[in-house]
This record gives sequence, structure tokens and C-alpha cells, in this order.
Amino acid sequence: MTAEALEKFRNAGDFIWADCRNEYELIQKIRENNPRIIISEYFQISEKAMATSESLRGVVAWGVGYDHVDVEAASKRGIYVANTRGSNAESVAEHAFSLILALSRRIVVLDNFVKTGRWSTREESGIPSSWFPVDLYGKILGIIGFGAIGSRVARIASGFGMRIIVFDPYLTTQDPRLNGIQLVGLKQLLKESDFVTVHVSLNKETRGMIGEKELNLMKHTAYLINTSRGPVVDEGALVAAITKGKIAGAGLDVFENEPIEPDNPLLGFDNVVLSPHIAGGSVEALNATALTVSEEAIRILNGQVPKNLVNKSELEKNGYLVGNSLK
Ligand code: NAD
Repeated sequence: MTAEALEKFRNAGDFIWADCRNEYELIQKIRENNPRIIISEYFQISEKAMATSESLRGVVAWGVGYDHVDVEAASKRGIYVANTRGSNAESVAEHAFSLILALSRRIVVLDNFVKTGRWSTREESGIPSSWFPVDLYGKILGIIGFGAIGSRVARIASGFGMRIIVFDPYLTTQDPRLNGIQLVGLKQLLKESDFVTVHVSLNKETRGMIGEKELNLMKHTAYLINTSRGPVVDEGALVAAITKGKIAGAGLDVFENEPIEPDNPLLGFDNVVLSPHIAGGSVEALNATALTVSEEAIRILNGQVPKNLVNKSELEKNGYLVGNSLK
């Protein structure tokens, strides 16, 4: 964390980290500290936990995803929920693209081939033909969710000469962020793409949005990349699709259960590249996230509305937020 972020944190005061082993421990921590702010990266912030402190004003998610916070319950209690939207977008976009490159250039299997001493001849014949790299130039990249991260992935991909198509039901064809990129339906995207990369937030609508039916629409030569949230993809259906050769492989940073269980079949595939939910964890992104979290916490403590408020409309609907002040 940078000195600037550390200093901000020191001065924020009145907050706790939800770095607990279970809800009971969190509730104890809330009782002991009576915080006005809870900061949580992944730990579930339930209605019961929020109800423990009468002085709680805000929950700040350490990162972009806030599916671990019961937003509905917070909104009913007049509690701000904020995230750090954009603070790690560059990091996740570069990571998603690294997974695309690792898969297309077969980096992991080829690295292993060299390191295990199997590169004994200068002839290519020692290398299985399925490990020959494929070029990204001219290939189609399908982006599902065109927000802070998805739009950055598009910018990187265009430098590689890829054709980009996007599915995002909340965008119109006139959206300036598209800048000439074609907006298509999900079916069309899945059918046409050589690489499908998922960048939606996890909610009721997106949970399981990539399942057996969707994977069946993809090309046999296509790859699925997921750096959003594990439950957006039906992991059982993905394992089945890879096993049956319905798709060419996958690049995954996020999983249904994290940390990944030792018997997860995804660990056994050559054509699947994995990372431990670290896409948003570049040095630069961690500093930016720390800074944004502390700034949001300070805003709430000072009675201001946080910049990245995610439950604005719910707070307004419930009569808690009027103009720029919380009632
Ligand atoms: P964002 O809010 O800027 O963009 C999300 C986009 O998804 C929006 O444009 C929205 O319109 C679109 N969308 C919503 N519902 C959709 C649907 N049903 N189908 C298609 N598109 C839909 O968020 P972002 O900053 O781009 O982040 C996206 C997600 O990435 C986060 O919610 C988080 O879960 C994940 N993330 C992961 C990591 C990591 O370390 N792996 C780090 C940061 C963020």
C-alpha cells in the first residue's frame, strides 16, 4: 500500500475489516468496535451482521464486485454500499488478455514441455500438433459485459487486430464507448467468437448465465475466459464441455468455490489455464483500491455521499437518500 493510502487509512478511524473466519466472529468484532464503516473484500456481510451496530453508516467493498454484501438489507437500513469501480479495471483487463494469449500461444504447456526436458530435438515433430500456437490476428473476440473492464479488453484486443463483438443488454448501439464495435445478441456472440471473455458483475440475472446451452453454441475451437465471478459460469457444464471437446479450453481466474478444491476436475486439463483470483491484484491496482476504499470511507464518515455508491436508487426509494444527504 502506498504511503498516501496508508495515511488516509490511519486517519479514517471508526471502521473494521471483515477479515473473519465466520459470521459469529464478525458479529463479535462489530459488538466490540461499534464501527461506522465495515470494509470487506470477499467476506459475506449479512443483514444479521449489519443489524448488530446501530451506528453503521456504510459498507465499502474492497474491489469492484460487491455480491458478498446484502445490498437489499443495507438499503432497508439506510446504509451506504460503495465499491471501488475502475480501481483495478486495467489490471483485470490485462490479466484476461494474458489468459487469452497463454491459451492461444499454448504458453503453459510449452513451458512445461521445455522445463521437463522433452525438447530433445530441433524438429517440431516432438510437439503435439494440438499445441501449435494460433494467432489472434483476424480472430473474433466476444466480450460479455462492456463496462470498465470489458471496454479495456476491447482496446487491448484491437491492437492485436482482433474483430470484437459485444453482448451487453444495458448498452445501446449509440453508446460512444462502442466506438464502432458491433453490439450483438448473446447467441450470436457465442456462435461466432473464437474467444469469449466474461466481464459482468454477479447478480440474480448473471448467475449461471453461461451453462450447457450456451457452451453448446460455442465453436469447438473456441475458448472461454472468465475473470468476473465463478458462479457466472456453470462449472459442471464447463468441465463437461471441455471433456467432450465441445470447446477448445478455458482461462479462469474465478471459481464456484474459492480457494479451488483439490479434486476440482479443472486442475487436470492441459487446455485450461488457471490463476488464483488475482486478476485485479496488480501492484498498481492494489494501491488504487486501497486509496479509493479509504477515500470512500472518509466521505461516509464526513457525512458525504460516496462517489461509487451502488445502492443509490434503493436508498432513494426507501426514503433514506434525499438529494445529497442521508436521512
Ligand atoms: P462494470 O459495472 O463497469 O461493468 C459490468 C458490465 O456488465 C456493465 O456494462 C453492465 O451493463 C454489463 N452487464 C450487466 N448485466 C449483464 C448481462 N446480464 N449480460 C451482459 N452484460 C451485462 O464492472 P467492471 O468493473 O467491468 O467489473 C466487472 C466484474 O468483474 C465485477 O463485477 C467483478 O465481479 C469482476 N472483477 C473481478 C476481479 C478479479 O480479480 N478477478 C477484479 C475486479 C472485478
